[in-house]
Amino acid sequence: MPTENDNSALDNLNFDNRFVRELPGDPEPDNFRRQVYSACYSWALPTPAKQPRLVAYSREVADDLDLSAASCESEDFCRVFAGSRLAKGMEAYAMCYGGHQFGHWAGQLGDGRAINLGEVVNSRRQRYTLQLKGAGVTPYSRSADGLAVLRSSIREFLCSEAMHHLGVPTTRALSVILTGQQVARDMFYDGNPQLEAGAVVCRVAQSFTRFGSFQIFTARDDLDSLKKLVDYTIRTDFPELGEPSIPVYLRWFEEVCRKTAEMIVHWQRVGFVHGVMNTDNMSILGLTIDYGPYGWLENYDPDWTPNTTDAQGRRYRFGNQPKIAYWNLVQLANALYPLIMRAESLQQALLAYTETYDAGWQAMMAAKLGLLAFTPGEDEALTSNLFQLLQAAETDMTLFFRQLADIDFTLGSDSLPAFLLLMQQTSYEPLNDDTVELAKAWFVSYRSRSQRDGQPQQARRAAMNAANPKYVLRNYLAQMAIDQAEQGDFAMVWELLDLLRNPYSEQADKADFAAKRPDWAKQRAGCSTLSCSS
Ligand code: AMP
Ligand code: MG
Repeated sequence: MPTENDNSALDNLNFDNRFVRELPGDPEPDNFRRQVYSACYSWALPTPAKQPRLVAYSREVADDLDLSAASCESEDFCRVFAGSRLAKGMEAYAMCYGGHQFGHWAGQLGDGRAINLGEVVNSRRQRYTLQLKGAGVTPYSRSADGLAVLRSSIREFLCSEAMHHLGVPTTRALSVILTGQQVARDMFYDGNPQLEAGAVVCRVAQSFTRFGSFQIFTARDDLDSLKKLVDYTIRTDFPELGEPSIPVYLRWFEEVCRKTAEMIVHWQRVGFVHGVMNTDNMSILGLTIDYGPYGWLENYDPDWTPNTTDAQGRRYRFGNQPKIAYWNLVQLANALYPLIMRAESLQQALLAYTETYDAGWQAMMAAKLGLLAFTPGEDEALTSNLFQLLQAAETDMTLFFRQLADIDFTLGSDSLPAFLLLMQQTSYEPLNDDTVELAKAWFVSYRSRSQRDGQPQQARRAAMNAANPKYVLRNYLAQMAIDQAEQGDFAMVWELLDLLRNPYSEQADKADFAAKRPDWAKQRAGCSTLSCSS
């Protein structure tokens, strides 16, 4: 049983709610749906959960907040992070933002089902904003219910933590808690809504400010609020840039371009497809944010998107993510223009995206292939031929790169049959004459290119294994954990959370989690395709 002492742990968190203290807020205290002007946030209390029940928590995020295991396992934790009670120092608010959705300006969006609880400053003086997702309506809920279901909450919880351990910048997740309330969702948009279990995730990040947080003010010609938010963001999240001024705005925008590029390079490295890269889902800190219909590449296919809502245009397909991030940054530049009034300087700053992305992508590809460095003018053909091969043979991207490290060139001519076997074992389609020819040609050029580096096999393998994860949150694995959790068994959620803590290490008895997608998962909803209904 939790003790009094455990219960009070949440009341001892050190809150310093700078966002609401320093930025303009909506004077309307009541929680009803509306357009909100000249404000960065509105007050909005979470809807108390009927019967909160803990599904899982992340001990690493708890550590960041100085919360002990006992506090996380207490009843009070469940109540607070399901939205049933505000702990001492918490102030509940929803943020105002707009955004471009699928390329079109959508006006005010805002936290329709996210409610911030304030900012914790931990014993190491690090600042974290806590945010509940799925805890009820806010002024920004438009026609929706402000709730979230268990399946999407588990997907967000597990993927945030998996991405962090993969070394990908991301918002984090402290907990996922069942609310005890049923939520109606039309998963296939076919007029057959089903009742599903409701859940709340507590997300954690330095800040949740998005590109759309700035865009909304420019769209409304509210330069006063725009300037306040820009100055605040620089002072709070980018203090190393110095006191806000026009040159500092430009340096800041350049930094946002750089951080965004670094994030996208990581996505391309691990085969992550975000699925909804609208400008309201782009963090100003370059964090992966808003896990919705995301997915992981299985067979390498640059045209793949998990999001059924995007099936027509495939705007957010894997291979398009780098271009879309740039497009989104252009929208952010447009939003900042009235503050800066220097179009050429903004253009110049945007180059930081392209330069960082190009250099980052080359270094990343060299690491994935175990090369000491990428040689421009030479290695482009090696990488493009490889992707052509992987696409043609429908090869599992994660398995391929991981196992490529085991091909030992000291075997001489025996390494080619070993490579062809690898191709066979990691591809979803049997190799045919064409793919065998492509594979042979590619391998011979790769082997000679790699041998020119003169790296010992051990060192090459270790370097490759640090860039190529063994375990990722395969779409069907998340779905299996969800199926079991929906039956009240959370063991697989915990098992995946644990597995994905060490995605680059070989883990005994976990071979099943680093295997090709089984046939049953190819067409099943949740395993290969997802709608936005969550
Ligand atoms: P997304 O693209 O999923 O991040 O969501 C776009 C907008 O819709 C954001 O403003 C969300 O807060 C809002 N939204 C999504 N689902 C819900 C929901 N169930 N209730 C209220 N607002 C929602
Ligand atoms: Mg969103």
